[in-house]
Amino acid sequence: MSQLDSAVKQLRSLSLTAAASQLATLVAKAEANEISYLGFVQSLAEHELLQRNVNRIQRHFKQAQFPSEKRLDQFDYRHQTTVTKRQISGLLDFSFIDERQNLIFIGPPGVGKTHLAIGIGHEAIQAGYKVLFKSALALVEELELAEMKGELKKRLTQLSKYDVLIIDELGYLPMSRQSRYNLFQLINSLYEYRSIILTTNKDFTSWGEFFHDDNVAVPIIDRVIHHSHVFMLGGESYRLKQKVNKT
Ligand code: ADP
Ligand code: MG
Repeated sequence: MSQLDSAVKQLRSLSLTAAASQLATLVAKAEANEISYLGFVQSLAEHELLQRNVNRIQRHFKQAQFPSEKRLDQFDYRHQTTVTKRQISGLLDFSFIDERQNLIFIGPPGVGKTHLAIGIGHEAIQAGYKVLFKSALALVEELELAEMKGELKKRLTQLSKYDVLIIDELGYLPMSRQSRYNLFQLINSLYEYRSIILTTNKDFTSWGEFFHDDNVAVPIIDRVIHHSHVFMLGGESYRLKQKVNKT
């Protein structure tokens, strides 16, 4: 085995896979440019670090489980005029995450709530944050299952590992009392600790009716709204517009 081959093998067994795969190239470069020993070690370490960062972000994208690829630069503010580009761009310093604030997008179907939530989530991952996307329905089902298995606490802990939890389409379907209680437990465990991005078709004024009878509703709503940026979206459904344009 050549010296290079055995060095590559050693790097591999140290789990320095990016450095291992680039070793030959970096050695050749160092020799050609008469780079110092220290400079060479630095370039090797830098390569490993950069690649690890790329891998980490890729892993975070997978973990986020976005249902579709939506980017903020695909969002048309000429169609959606009830929110401005400046307002959304203003969120991208991610102080809302650092300060554990929430974003709430309220509006009828098709106005871009989910698109904005995913787009912001996408940018947050690029910036190094961990994000998880959940439809409210899936989330409620998951919590119910966990609760039945006596694993609610464990699941809540797992969900609070993410910097941002996107809860999509809360309010479209009625929920059992137990489900609302589980949801309350979740929001409680994230409160002032993590950020939530919530999309909903329900105006706050009708949330009382959604959570009807109960005294669990009020604290849920209070906790979500407290420390939140609320965006009320209106206008025409984008889906409808696309259909109309096609004909
Ligand atoms: P909502 O969550 O409010 O029901 P979505 O975000 O799912 O709506 O939007 C419906 C579809 O229309 C998606 O494919 C989305 O990408 C697209 N869309 C909505 N608003 C815009 C917009 N202003 N610019 C570009 N695409 C949009
Ligand atoms: Mg939606």
